[in-house]
This record gives sequence, C-alpha cells and structure tokens, in this order.
Amino acid sequence: MIYRTDYHMHSSYSDGRSVPEDYIFPAISAGLSEIGFSEHLSLFNNSAGLNMNPAIIPTYISHLQDLQKSTKGIKIKIGLEVDYFEGKEEEIKSYLNPLPLDYIIGSVHYLGEKTVDVGPEFYEGKSIDRLFEAYFDSVVIAVSSGLFDIIAHCDLIRIYGYKPSLNLEPLYRKLAKTMKIHNVAFEVNTNGRNRPLADFYPDRQFLHVFRDEKVPVCVNSDAHMPSRVGQYFDEAYDLLRYIGFTEMAVFDKRVRRMVPF
Ligand SMILES: [Zn+2]
Ligand SMILES: [Zn+2]
Repeated sequence: MIYRTDYHMHSSYSDGRSVPEDYIFPAISAGLSEIGFSEHLSLFNNSAGLNMNPAIIPTYISHLQDLQKSTKGIKIKIGLEVDYFEGKEEEIKSYLNPLPLDYIIGSVHYLGEKTVDVGPEFYEGKSIDRLFEAYFDSVVIAVSSGLFDIIAHCDLIRIYGYKPSLNLEPLYRKLAKTMKIHNVAFEVNTNGRNRPLADFYPDRQFLHVFRDEKVPVCVNSDAHMPSRVGQYFDEAYDLLRYIGFTEMAVFDKRVRRMVPF
C-alpha cells in the first residue's frame, strides 16, 4: 500500500462540522496511513471567529491522545494550524513549544485586519499585484520565523481567482528557497478545488519551483467535514509524480522524515 497522510483537518474543536471520531472511518476508507488534526488557533486576532479557544487546547490534546490509544488501522497525529502575526514570534513560540504536538502548520490568513479569504470584496478597489506581493512577503516572514513545520495553502491569495499582471515566478522562487533554508514543508492543499479558485494550492504552474529547490511536500485536504478527508488525493499525487516529486514529509513529535510515494 502507498503511504499517505492527511495532516490538515478541522473538527468541531474549531470550525469543522464533526467530532474527531467521525473522520477515522472515511480516512481508513480513503487508504490513508496517518491523519492529523490541525485546529485553527489565532492568538492575536479572532475576528474571523473560526478558531479554537486556547483554553480548551489541553482538552483537545487529551481527547486525541485517547483516540490514538483506541484506534486501530490508522495513526493519528496531533497538530494545530496557527496564524502567523509578525512581531509576535516570541509569544507564539512560548505558547506552542510546551505542547506535545506532532507538527505545527503555519498560516497567513490575515493581511491587515481582514483575512484574505473573508470574501471577494476584500479585493475590490485594491491592486491585485500589490496584494500578491504583500501576501508572499508575509508568508516568507512566517517561514523565516522558525515557528512552523508546514506552511498551509502558501498562495491562499489566489482563492477568488483574481489574476495579477506581474511575473509570479520570483515570488514562488523566493518562498521556496526560504522554505528550504528554514526546513519547512509546503502542502498541496486540495481544498482549493472546493473554493471559488477551483484548483489546488499552490498554483500547479509553479510546483516545479518547489521541486527545483527541494522543498519537502505534504498532501493535505484541509477537510472541514469527514466526507472530504483525502479528497482529490489520487490527482494530487499524480500531479506531484508528474512534476518529479518522489517522497513526502511525515511528522512525529515535530521531527520530519521523508517517505517515498
Ligand atoms: Zn487555513
Ligand atoms: Zn485549514
């Protein structure tokens, strides 16, 4: 069996629809070897209202530890999807480091006070070129912070399909080089297919850049409901193989190893 993981899933601990237990059977049916939960945590801005209350993190972790013990046939990993806020690195680090997590997914959802996925109106009247530059700058800084093992949907700014006029290759190149330097993995996030963009993150045109720079990759569904666990994974792995990727990143207690696929 091919070893596959899905490390980016949201349960009712944050904005997912179901309790963690409900994700197990669909994951086994999808042929996955490991799944991991990655509830939203936003320590400095919760205006989107989708996040787990930090006070319940101990409950979340012990719930998943119990599930690890009682579940056969699939490994369960414990993660978080954490919003990056520039200038708050030390606070984020001291909050996260004591937690017994297998990996931390870093996300840039906010540009200023609003999230870039709040709605297409966020983009109206703004320069799409400048928004792309600002978004990529922010992700590069998040990668450089050393806080994260994986970066989520690294070009989420594409969500509504707005097309910039600038040459994007240098933005992807700089991002990929920074990820390699800081030992951070990127994800092929298949949930983009369910959003207005209707395609994966990152842009498939630039996947070769991540391959050239030898950035570790994960394939993740970003499922917010059990029926989407492992969704579109055959296509995502075919795409990665076609581009020339041969192995993927597996995490255990924040240590990465590479597994062939
Ligand atoms: Zn996200
Ligand atoms: Zn997510």
